[in-house]
Amino acid sequence: MAKKIILLGSTGSIGTQSLDVARMQGYEVVGLAAHSRAEKLLEQIREFHPRYAAVVDEAAADRVERELAGFENPPQLLRGPEGLRQLAGLGEADVVLNAVVGIAGLPATLAALESGTDVALANKESLVTGGHLVTQAVKAAGVKLLPVDSEHSAIFQCLQDAHSAKTLTKILLTASGGPFFGMKKEELAGKTRADALKHPNWNMGAKITIDSATLMNKGLELIEAVWLFGLPPEKIQIVVQRQSIIHSMVQFSDNSVLAQLGLPDMRIPIQYALTWPDRLPSPVGELDFAALKTLTFDVADEETFRCLAACKKAIAKGGLGPCAANGANEEAVRLFLEDKIGFLDIGRLVEAVVDSDTYGGTYTLKDVYDCDRMARDYVLSHL
Ligand code: NDP
Ligand code: MG
Repeated sequence: MAKKIILLGSTGSIGTQSLDVARMQGYEVVGLAAHSRAEKLLEQIREFHPRYAAVVDEAAADRVERELAGFENPPQLLRGPEGLRQLAGLGEADVVLNAVVGIAGLPATLAALESGTDVALANKESLVTGGHLVTQAVKAAGVKLLPVDSEHSAIFQCLQDAHSAKTLTKILLTASGGPFFGMKKEELAGKTRADALKHPNWNMGAKITIDSATLMNKGLELIEAVWLFGLPPEKIQIVVQRQSIIHSMVQFSDNSVLAQLGLPDMRIPIQYALTWPDRLPSPVGELDFAALKTLTFDVADEETFRCLAACKKAIAKGGLGPCAANGANEEAVRLFLEDKIGFLDIGRLVEAVVDSDTYGGTYTLKDVYDCDRMARDYVLSHL
């Protein structure tokens, strides 16, 4: 029987690559969810004939509804943030792949887990903002949380031998360094939206591309790794690997290191999350070591890239610290993409929010939303 998947964020970079995998593996797509790209979603509905479609933006939902009236077997339309949550929590698929961007993905992750469905997680913000709630939900439902993020997939792949996994002592989280690697503050001050959107190795959505340029993405991934693999942050070392060929490494008690390598193409980790523990042929080509020749390693410059320093402070504070850093970053990136603040303002604002409170302790979902709101308001009042 074909595997049944529900795909959230289907119109994005991870979403469309997930559909490449679904097409190749012949999966049944039970549900698709998008925010505002109505045309792209309609195209996907025509090809994959899902039973459900969720559209978060109201105007886009109206447009999709009008078009669906002419379909022979239209999917049931679910609307708004509640529609996204409903789709995630249907319990009618083998796996929910969450490729929504931002904290908007958190309620969907929780709903899917609570419905007893495995989650393939690209939406790292779910773990960053609500890691405590997500890991609790995984335990309570006895389901799997499968990493899609390439670094976390690499670590997960290196830890498949349960025996050696018990002796894990360190994670080497690789980073491309982004388009501004090696630059200092003076040079970064004038960087524009267009400069920051040119990533050297990966073709991704706008928000994560900016996060890669500021190194916020690596900070978010450090927090994501703490929740997924249970090591303290000081046992997770960030290693700049400019070619993005080594996707991460793990070290064991005897100081032996295992790495996972491959072309920088997200369809490998997406497919592994969907086929795990099996490996199937992939649309991605093989690594050509003769052409590759060199792999380089470097250190991340936290002094210049303050978002990374801020994320480290946030995870050390614990509780809602990472949620505050994430909320401030989402708001600052939105403003940067609208040309309203400069590149260095992103790090300045994220760090200021983290420094402004203690954030410790456990929390509820309402606390997460309140903290996210506070961080966004802080950014807006400190421009
Ligand atoms: P994109 O911006 O390309 O896509 C985001 C998707 O989420 C789109 O389908 C978008 O809908 C939808 N969306 C946006 N806002 C909302 C909302 N408020 N509610 C519901 N859906 C929403 O992002 P990416 O695919 O690049 O990234 C998705 C996630 O995966 C992020 O968390 C990112 O950090 C993570 N990730 C991405 C990688 C990559 O290579 N791209 C690599 C590793 C992780 P619409 O298009 O219709 O507006
Ligand atoms: Mg990543």
